[in-house]
Order: sequence, then C-alpha cells, then structure tokens
Amino acid sequence: MTVSLWRRIDRRPRVQTDVIVIGGGICGLSAGIELRSRGVGFLVLERGAVGSGASTRNAGFLMRGAAENYSLAIRDYGRTLARTVWRWTEENLALLRRDGVEQLPSFAPRASCLLALEPEEHAELQQSIGQMREDGFDVDWIDRGDDVVWRNARPLGGLINPHDAVVNPAELIAMLASRLRGNIREQQEVFEITPTDEGVRVGVADAVYVAPRVLLCTNAYTASLVPQLAGAVTPRRGQMLAVHAPGVSLPFAYYANRGSEYFRQAGHETIVVGGCRTYHADVEIGTEDVTTPLIQTALERFAAAILGANHRILARWAGAMGFSPDGLPLIGPIQGLPGAYFCGGFTGHGMSMARRSAAAAVAEMLDGGTTPFPLTRLDDGPIDPRSIASPA
Ligand SMILES: Cc1cc2nc3c(=O)[nH]c(=O)nc-3n(C[C@H](O)[C@H](O)[C@H](O)COP(=O)(O)OP(=O)(O)OC[C@H]3O[C@@H](n4cnc5c(N)ncnc54)[C@H](O)[C@@H]3O)c2cc1C
Repeated sequence: MTVSLWRRIDRRPRVQTDVIVIGGGICGLSAGIELRSRGVGFLVLERGAVGSGASTRNAGFLMRGAAENYSLAIRDYGRTLARTVWRWTEENLALLRRDGVEQLPSFAPRASCLLALEPEEHAELQQSIGQMREDGFDVDWIDRGDDVVWRNARPLGGLINPHDAVVNPAELIAMLASRLRGNIREQQEVFEITPTDEGVRVGVADAVYVAPRVLLCTNAYTASLVPQLAGAVTPRRGQMLAVHAPGVSLPFAYYANRGSEYFRQAGHETIVVGGCRTYHADVEIGTEDVTTPLIQTALERFAAAILGANHRILARWAGAMGFSPDGLPLIGPIQGLPGAYFCGGFTGHGMSMARRSAAAAVAEMLDGGTTPFPLTRLDDGPIDPRSIASPA
C-alpha cells in the first residue's frame, strides 16, 4: 500500500493507549479478550468492519490438528512439536468454550473425520492413530460410515477426532466483538507503524495512535503493512461454495485428500464445501476477493462426486489466508520494529489456532518469554524501520 503526502500531514488527533491491536479478525479479537482479562488498556483497529477478512469467510471447522495428518506432522516437525500443535488446537477450542462459543445457536459438537480416499493416505492415517494414542490423544477409526459420502466416494476408512466442533464463524466473531465494546475502532486502516521514543506510532487517515506495544493480527494482509514480512506470511486464496442437497445429512465434518477438500453440514440440507486450491496453488495467491471458474468448477465436481448430482448452488465466496513457510503459526516480536509484535500465519487453520496463539502472543508481549512458534525463526534478518511508511 502506498501513502500520499496529503495523508501524512500531521494535524490528526493523538490517542494514547497501552496496546494497539491491528486487525479485527478472530486473532485480533482474541488478543483483545486476553488484554481485557489482564486489565490492560487497548484498542483494536480494523480497516473495515470486524471480521471482514478470512474470519467470517471460512468453513467454521473448530478442528484438532494442522494442515497435515499427525504422521506427516511428525515427519515434518518432529514428535514434540507435532504433539504441541495438536494440544494447541485442543486448547484453542477450550478457550473458545470459556469465551462462550457453546452458547451460540450455530455451535455444535461435531467429530471431524479425515477420510482415507486412497491406500497411501489410509496408511498415513492408520499410523497417525497409533502415534496419537501413544501421545495421549483420544482418537477413533471407522471402516465405514452410513451417509451419502461413504456410498458415493467409497473411502477406505476415516480417522475420527471425537471432540471437535463447528460454528458459523460470523456468529463467533460477533460474539467476540460484543465482549470488546468500546475497545474496537472500525474503518481505521493503518498505513504507518513507526517506533519512536514515546512509543510506537500507528497512523490512520484521521488519527495517530501511540502505545508502547503494537500487535499485528493482519494475517494475509500483513505484507502491505510490513513488506519485510512478505517472506514469512504469504497470502493464499481459499474458495467455498454452499449447496442445497435434499435429503443429505452428514454426521461428521469431513476432511479429504489430506485437507485439500473439506465439507460439512451447515444447516438443514445445506452443505458447505471448500478447498481444491492445492491443484491450482500457483494461481490461488494474493488477497483479491473473487471466486474463479477454475476453482468453483472443481468444487462443484467434488460436491457432485461426494453428495451426488442432485444439489443446487446457494452461495460462492472467497477469503484470503496467511500461509507460513512450514504451516505453523508465527508469533513474536518483529525484528527492527521495537515494540511491534506479530501473530498469524495460520495456514488455513486460524479458527483452530488463532485464539490460543493470540493468548501466547499477548503473554509474550507483556510477560516476555517465548512461544513454540517464534516469528524470529523465520526471519532472514532485521527489518529496517526506515523502510516502514512514516510521516513526512
Ligand atoms: C475459504 C476458507 C475456509 C477456511 N476454513 C477454515 C476452517 O474451517 N477452520 C479453520 O480453522 N480455519 C479456516 N480458515 C482459515 C481461517 O479463516 C483463518 O486462518 C483465520 O480467519 C485468520 O484469522 P485472522 O484474524 O488472523 O485474519 P483475518 O480474519 O483475515 O483478519 C485480519 C484483519 O485485519 C484487517 N486488516 C488488514 N490490514 C489492515 C490494516 N492495514 N489496518 C487495519 N486493519 C487491517 C483485515 O480487514 C481483517 O479483518 C479458512 C479460510 C478460508 C479463506
């Protein structure tokens, strides 16, 4: 994002607070909940309306785990870190429960089922079951279910996460925002973050906010604000569709092809289906809010294959996700920007990770210490604060 001279002329009112949170998605609002519980003064600055990013555009899976299954996570991260990630997502749901998610009309405890559609994935999931049990996780296996998915797609089995849940994410965001009344400023697009002797200056068009600490919860949109983080958080588009599928009722929130596709019941005879981006990952890049025929056609074909042809499209939409290089969240101080911290890079799993990650980010910011997912691990070098937009 570029900023004209005219928007930098400084007759803007100054607002002082203890912590400025940038971004009003699930991450920024979760940070607000944590700050409020500690009695710390804060403001959440959101450029549009709260939830205008990915947080109200996702599938609403509150699922244990990360993008990969457990055996692949162990291969990629090692056993200790894989276990930490799985626990992290369990703790995420526990925190959301504490916030009151269970009282929302759309909340439902719903086991998720990782389908084994081909032998290789079947072997991975079988291995995952053993490893998860060894590591103390409650997990089940089914050879065959009795809904339409099993009749049409004929999976070889499925790994069941029995304690997962689903929710309408827009309802969840509204609930979290309602807890923070008075601390949220909408229509406040931040275009300037400058460390100064009196604190970090955060500039929007009609005000300057100053605080000793700033937490960026801008996920996919981060690079337009802090270009130096472009290598750490890359924006990837995810697309979904909702269908009316007469007579279809799904007992599980389903995950297929190692999470490439996902679908679940979202109301009577209404199924939401997302994914297919992995087949076209080279074009599903950026933050542009559009659906494309390429992905939507793939989603429709997938929906027909699992649900049968008798369905009608109700809605299509897209959202921008922040991917990290290794698929794990990124939390911690931004090098070269004293006082500024980042929390994001949830790689398509922010509903399952952002609440817990925001708690860790606030703890790190206020108490010191480190998280298992440090941002610095992925930084190539210090950020030059002079290259951040600053007042003329
Ligand atoms: C199609 C799709 C399906 C998904 N399904 C699931 C799922 O089922 N389960 C799951 O766990 N995850 C899912 N995800 C991922 C999940 O939605 C995200 O990981 C999560 O919402 C990220 O939350 P966030 O608060 O970090 O980011 P966002 O919700 O994107 O919030 C960032 C906010 O920052 C604001 N912002 C950006 N720049 C500025 C600025 N300069 N000044 C002020 N504000 C700014 C934006 O307007 C935005 O509101 C899905 C994502 C998509 C796209």
